[in-house]
Amino acid sequence: MTRALILGGTADANLLAETIVQVGLEAVYSYGGRTRAPAGQKLPTRIGGFGGVTGLADYLRREGITHVIDATHPFAAEISRNAVTACAETSTPLLALERAPWVKTPGDTWIEVADITSAVAALPERRARVLLAIGRQHIAPFGARPQHAYTLRFVDPPEGALPLPDADVIVSRGPFTLDGELETLRARGIEWIVARNSGGSGARAKIDAARTLGLPVIMLSRPQLPDRPRAESVPEVMEWLGHRICLGA
Ligand code: NAP
Repeated sequence: MTRALILGGTADANLLAETIVQVGLEAVYSYGGRTRAPAGQKLPTRIGGFGGVTGLADYLRREGITHVIDATHPFAAEISRNAVTACAETSTPLLALERAPWVKTPGDTWIEVADITSAVAALPERRARVLLAIGRQHIAPFGARPQHAYTLRFVDPPEGALPLPDADVIVSRGPFTLDGELETLRARGIEWIVARNSGGSGARAKIDAARTLGLPVIMLSRPQLPDRPRAESVPEVMEWLGHRICLGA
């Protein structure tokens, strides 16, 4: 009998969960616990780390997990690496549900960087208005460039003081639209954007808006992960789970 584990926390994971509920497959949805009130989905849920590779491998054995779907964010590298190792150790089939990265198109001004330190270094010396669309765990290094006026966008309101002297916070979960992003960028006079190459459509609007306004984007490339089987859509995952679903039916 199938009993799947979804490593989730993303819109794609929620979409998968919804489909799994519809077909009546048995599955558990796991959240990392970073977001205070994760967007609702109806599968049985567990929250928080497993305790590294050993903890995850123990969990897979204990819970009789037959399939693991890693539908975490493309920048959640640690849990994804742990899943590769724990699944290999326990001979549990693993599939990553991973959106293709965005590709630079004519009209985009991207400075592609490998890590946050390089993103900080890529900002101009003169004061600028900067949108940091990178997740709250990665804000602190921008304190090295305190001359800028930062706009931060978080899913949850920040707890405590921010590590930046001039920062303004937008609390919003997305997905965002092109019109909405154009309005945000114009209203705040944003001149630079720092973003992660997350892929997908919900987060893409800011990149399209940057192109429309001719703004430079400092784009963080995805972390390197071990080779693993990948799918880009929920129907592909369902087929892998043995449930062919008909689109548009
Ligand atoms: P991470 O650095 O890969 O994971 C750190 C640890 O958190 C893992 O080793 C694991 O702990 C636990 N963890 C993460 N996701 C989990 C899940 N779905 N279920 C159970 N445990 C989980 O990932 P992160 O700290 O979540 O985020 C890294 C970057 O990705 C951040 O920039 C974040 O903004 C972004 N991001 C992540 C998600 C996501 O789906 N996780 C969603 C949106 C954005 P143990 O080792 O103890 O098992």
